[in-house]
Formats: sequence, structure tokens, C-alpha cells
Amino acid sequence: MLANSLTHIKRSGLTRREFMWLSSLAAAGYVFGCATDPVTGKKQFMLVSEDTEIQIDQQYSPLQFSTDYGSVQDSKLNRYVSQVGNKMAASSHRPHMPYSFRVVNATYINAYAFPGGSIAATRGIMLSLDNEAELAALLGHELGHVNARHSAEQMSKGQLTQAIAGGISVLAGTQSAALGDLAGQLGQISAGALLASYSRDNEREADALGMEYMVGAGYGSEGFVGLMDLLNSMSKHKTTSVDLLFATHPMSQERYDTAVQTANTKYKTALKGPLQRERYMDHTAGLRAKKGAIEEIQKGQKQMAQRKYDAAGGHFRKALKQAPNDYVALCMMSINNLAQKKYAVARQYAEMAQKSYPKEAQAYHLSGFSKIQLKDFEGAYEEFNAYESRLPGNPNIIFFKGYCQEGMEQIEPAANEYKRYLQVVQQGKFAQHAYKRLVDWGYIK
Ligand SMILES: [Zn+2]
Repeated sequence: MLANSLTHIKRSGLTRREFMWLSSLAAAGYVFGCATDPVTGKKQFMLVSEDTEIQIDQQYSPLQFSTDYGSVQDSKLNRYVSQVGNKMAASSHRPHMPYSFRVVNATYINAYAFPGGSIAATRGIMLSLDNEAELAALLGHELGHVNARHSAEQMSKGQLTQAIAGGISVLAGTQSAALGDLAGQLGQISAGALLASYSRDNEREADALGMEYMVGAGYGSEGFVGLMDLLNSMSKHKTTSVDLLFATHPMSQERYDTAVQTANTKYKTALKGPLQRERYMDHTAGLRAKKGAIEEIQKGQKQMAQRKYDAAGGHFRKALKQAPNDYVALCMMSINNLAQKKYAVARQYAEMAQKSYPKEAQAYHLSGFSKIQLKDFEGAYEEFNAYESRLPGNPNIIFFKGYCQEGMEQIEPAANEYKRYLQVVQQGKFAQHAYKRLVDWGYIK
């Protein structure tokens, strides 16, 4: 069966790299074939099973959420967003999927879905929305991607696979642009590296499903038009905060026009349905109290992207004046100091960030990296251990643990970590370093 599938793939004209990736999945025991599109009921060529979608989601979504500085600690806000999302998920085409919803701390403007149904909206986009119906439209659109299995489709075409197969050290997206080479050195997983880039057809289908789901949940279809209006105007006045949003969800005048038309025809009776503006404002009051700070962080990140570290630091400090314990602002201060090679200061801010959000892993990465630079390998090793206990499965951490042990001249444990790393990642600077050491130490002949 499997051999047949692979022969079929070979004939289907995939590139060698795509074929190699699919072969490696096949070796891992995944079975490919045709599936029925849960939305249209038509047969679709699908190389990724539902179990694989869920597995990929569980493996990678926690890494992306942490790259976005974790879920907000405002549990009421997360609960509220979950309620809005779950109401629609229950009556979607794949109600059995393990959906979950959260607001992540990142300040750039985006929302995204993993193939198993893990969905996130950033603080940046939550601040831009005007009412609950717009939120439902946003989450409904993401649910549309999950229900029409767009990520799985992208994976079948080999388009989402490089990041995953290549060891997720790929640089892409807004925040990593701000970090430039530093992100590579930090070994952070770049924002967007794990996210699917949808086609225009995907967007059309997700919009149609999104409006269906939000109207089905009782909202006014005007809310969907409101969201499209917002996206349309943001795509015209491009700022760096929206780069990743439009790189992954292509926007067009056509999407807006279609929404207006559909709201006025197919969903005409729902046009003036409730928007629940007051309820949205109530539940986002805590978030909106931090609006000034979040805007300062956005400005600082823009300056960092242009390597204007002093100006960036000024914005992050202003953010901290307004929101002294803001996890992102503290992490950004740490990163900004790392970029300027001020490692002791970077470590201090990373430690403050840990205190402000002890369960979140990212700050441990920053403190660990600072300590490596300060040649405190033992301290750094502890930080990476703390990271791994909070967020397992990031191969970069395996490398850094080996690197710390190398620094402590513990050759055998270091070699073991490097071997473990090379099993997951075979390309890039870290892999070269690990490989060279294993050769030097006689583990590879
Ligand atoms: Zn989309």
C-alpha cells in the first residue's frame, strides 16, 4: 500500500525534496491516500491523515504560542474568546476536532490556526477589533481553514514542510526580521516559521465558512463585513505589525467585496443581527488598559527591525512605565540588550520577565543565551533545563544544552546532546557545529 502511494507521489511530479520529506513521513508510518473533503464532500488528494493533523498541531502549536510569548495571563479574556470560538466549532463541519482558543501576548496583528484546531489571536488584533461579531468572524475564518483542511493541503503540496522537516530554524516573519541574525544565534523559533501560508482560494473558502459559522452562532453578518473592512484598510496602510498576517492570509479588495455581497444576499436576514459591542468592550477592558504600552512595543519592534536599538529601547521603556510587568516588554528589553551585546543587562530583564510569567518558557531561553555569552555555562544549562521542563520539543534547546556542557568540558554528555540534536536537525550553523565536534571528539569517523 505504502509503496504504491509513494510511487503515485513520484509520478505526481513533486520535487525531490518534497518526495524525500514524504518518504520520511512514510518511513515514520503515516499512510497517505485520498480523503473526503469534510466541507464539500468531494474526494481530495490528501497525504495527511486527521491523526497526523492533530499530532502536528500538538507538537508545534505550543512552540508557536511560546514564540508569541504565551497565552495572556488574563484567564477571563481567554475564557471569553474560547466561548465565542467553541460556540461555532460545535456546529462546524468537523465538530469532533480538539479545538482550543486563546489570546497570545504578541503585539503584532495576527490570528492563526494549527491543523488540529489550536487557534490563537494576538493582543494586537484583539485591540483592533470593535465587537464580538468581528471576533466571531475572525475565529470563524480560522475555523474555516481547519475545517477545509487547508494546512493539510499545504502539507500535501510540500509547502509547509520545510520548516518542520528542516528543524524549524527557518527565518520568516515580522518579529524575526526585527532580530535578524540574532534570531539565528538565539535559536528562537521565528514567528511564522510554523504557520501555513494560504492561497487566495483558501482565503475565499475560509471567508465563506467563517461567515456561515458566525451567522449560525447568531451574530449579525455585518460583523464579518466589519472585519473585512478592518483588514482591507490595514492592508492599504501597511505597517510592519501586519506583515505576517497578510503573508499568511492574503488580503484583497475582492475578499471585502464578496463579504459585502454575501452579507447582503445569502445572509440578508442576519445582516442586522447582534454585534455584541458592549460585551466585547467589557471583556477586553483589561487589555485595552494596556493599549498605550502595546503600541509602544509595536513602535519599538519597528525600530529594532531597522537596527535602531537606542530608539527601540526608548519605546520599550515607555511601555514598561505604563505596564511595569508586561512580559513582552521585558523580553523585548532583554532581546534589545542582547542585540547590543549588553549581556548582563539582557540577563536582568530576562529574569524580570521570568518573574512576571513563571510558567512561560521564552524568558528562560533569553536568560540562558545571556549566560552563555557571559561564559556562565553552568547557569545557562539550568536555564535551558527550566525551559525544557516548561516547553519540551524545541530542538534548539537540545543544541544549547550540549553547547553548555561543552563549555563545562563535559565531553560525553555534550556529545550525547549533539547526537540527539543531529537526529532532529541536519542543516544550519548549529548542526555544523555539532557535527564538527562529534568528528573532533572521535564519535563520528
Ligand atoms: Zn486565512
